[in-house]
Amino acid sequence: MSLLPPANRALVEKLAIANRILYDQGVVDGFGHVSVRHDGARACFLLARNMAPGLVTADDILTFDLDGNALDAGGRRVYLERFIHGEIYRARADVHAIVHSHSPSVIPFAATRTPLRPIYHMSGFLGAGSALFDIRDVAGDTDLLIRDPALGRALAEALGPHAAVLMRGHGSTVVGVSLEQVVYRAVYAEINARLQAQAVALGGVTYLTDAEAAKAAATNDTQLARVWELWERRVTPAREGRSGR
Ligand code: MN
Repeated sequence: MSLLPPANRALVEKLAIANRILYDQGVVDGFGHVSVRHDGARACFLLARNMAPGLVTADDILTFDLDGNALDAGGRRVYLERFIHGEIYRARADVHAIVHSHSPSVIPFAATRTPLRPIYHMSGFLGAGSALFDIRDVAGDTDLLIRDPALGRALAEALGPHAAVLMRGHGSTVVGVSLEQVVYRAVYAEINARLQAQAVALGGVTYLTDAEAAKAAATNDTQLARVWELWERRVTPAREGRSGR
């Protein structure tokens, strides 16, 4: 019998909505996932069962310990790459939400070992640039997936203090202090990648300085509710009293 307190119901609902927002915004497709640290147990996190993020509801949310063991799956399948989440939460006390995706515009950057850098104020969280993880450096020829705790630890180590780590031949992982912040970062990492590639093609790119990036990120963190409300509205049924679309 687990002594774990139940997660806050509103947090579970918000995680389900985060899943659907990330699909609606083109960050995840049938694959990818988002988690949040358990509000009542720092050594646990919440993550959907193995399914397409765009279809997740609160009933699909499971609880895991940091080793990646599901505590309440009841026979439901879990994500192979759940170790991404557990090992980053273990390594980073400041992280409370994580998005792992294969968002397409980011892929070429990892393949060419080119860091994402902030091309405009919206992506100030990229700071001095993204981290890079190449699974081949630690595990040789694999299927590229983070399918055990050791690979999760290697990824967390590569992430270091950064907000985003690019995963060569695979995708990327973005971290934040809240679901609102990590969803924002995942959306704007994808947009920044698209814009950065366009700017590089033009040549002679001027990126934000570290100081500009830090100031912009601090401002953006005060505006998260604004975009969350917009994105949430697109993936939740119209509530009573709201005009329909
Ligand atoms: Mn993956």
